[in-house]
Amino acid sequence: MANQDNKKSKSKDLQEKLFLQRKNTAKIFTQEEQKKADKFCEGYKSFLNVAKTEREAVEQAVEACIKAGFSEFEIGKKYKVGDKVYKLNRQKSVIAAVIGKDDLKNGVNLLAAHIDSPRLDLKQRPLYEEAELAYFKTHYYGGIKKYQWTAVPLALHGVIVKSDLSVVKVNIGEDAADPVFAVTDLLPHLAEEQYKRPANQLIKGEELNILIGSRPFKEDDGNDPAGGSNLVKLNIMKLLNEKYGLNEADFLSAELELVPAFKACDVGFDRSLIGSYGQDDRVCAYTALKALLDLKKAPKRTAVVILTDKEEVGSDGNTGLKSSYLEFFLNDLADMQNLPVRTLLSNSKCLSADVNVGFDPTFPDVNEKLNVAYLNYGVAVTKFTGSRGKSGTSDASAEFTAEVRKLFDDNKIAWQTGELGKVDLGGGGTVAMFLANLNIDVIDVGVPVLSMHAPLEITAKNDVYTAYKAFGVFIAGE
Ligand code: MN
Ligand code: MN
Repeated sequence: MANQDNKKSKSKDLQEKLFLQRKNTAKIFTQEEQKKADKFCEGYKSFLNVAKTEREAVEQAVEACIKAGFSEFEIGKKYKVGDKVYKLNRQKSVIAAVIGKDDLKNGVNLLAAHIDSPRLDLKQRPLYEEAELAYFKTHYYGGIKKYQWTAVPLALHGVIVKSDLSVVKVNIGEDAADPVFAVTDLLPHLAEEQYKRPANQLIKGEELNILIGSRPFKEDDGNDPAGGSNLVKLNIMKLLNEKYGLNEADFLSAELELVPAFKACDVGFDRSLIGSYGQDDRVCAYTALKALLDLKKAPKRTAVVILTDKEEVGSDGNTGLKSSYLEFFLNDLADMQNLPVRTLLSNSKCLSADVNVGFDPTFPDVNEKLNVAYLNYGVAVTKFTGSRGKSGTSDASAEFTAEVRKLFDDNKIAWQTGELGKVDLGGGGTVAMFLANLNIDVIDVGVPVLSMHAPLEITAKNDVYTAYKAFGVFIAGE
């Protein structure tokens, strides 16, 4: 017996030495660490509740930056080590940076996360009345399973820029006293034909209509008006005119977004998980920015956090990462040291901070178990994304992957591999390739998510906290 035990422990020892180990943070966190992680996530949940759109996320980020002593970046100003700056791009993306000790010719350490999330946008002419009910027409933004957006309470967020160029901010449905809005769905009793549709058309894009009212306009004396059509629509327009001074044409120059109206909450009896709208990718946006704000001293290399827009629709547009705005900012930084920006870019390193799929045992077949990320096992490090033969990915080099691996191991950051589904099955991308195309070393690091792009996305608190720690050691750059 003794002999056998000996043998067993020898193989166990050898396995521990030679095999790649995955560690569940819920098992390895000390009580103190667990407490810290849970506490950290309270701040994160509060952020999710007030940052449901890219504009709101930018507002929150700038407010936090100013509070932490950041000032607006000025072109031509000579910044010194430890100086903190931020630069807005059209109220929809923001770059924050802390000047490091090293010369900029050695490059910067960059964290890139996106702050746009899938949602329902209003069309330019949204308002109509049908069967004495008033509605908004929508065009969904990003990859959604359309049927998930029916019969859930929705809030209306955004801006309307009137013809005098004044801006009206809209936020209805978040306050307990506010009304909410909804997309209706067919009752099961009458859904026989609907059930025959393919699932991606169970609800069609043109059926994502938002119910916004049902009472017709009445005269001041309370009487029905003599004739006239569209009286429910008229009544809605009258309310909007009274509250915001709007007329129907003002929708033409508006960005109004319908997002789930509920708040971020704990999920599970043990409260180990977070359920919320918009965690892809505000979980990485929050943790990345917080890591920058919490830097205890000036970083070794200049630390830059970029919170970008438009990732969910392919990163095109002047607030997305295919735009030159990041390069322009880095160019302005490089100018400060009379350095060509190409030198700064070529020596820069980036973690593309974005979520990845977490293994869902209810749907095990879409992922390959060896390489997929698991909830509670720390940040997912994804060397490549893309689909079908690594198409559309930057694929981090072995050298840079090893650097990140060493950094996380040396700092006891729990990390695991990530992969976006089985080969040949689907796939997807992040902003990593747009940074790599600037000749920056980049790899995806982020939090595993369940029910990604659904109104209620789920993450593990320990992974959120681990992301914050991981981003912190990366930008400290020691
Ligand atoms: Mn994402
Ligand atoms: Mn996404």
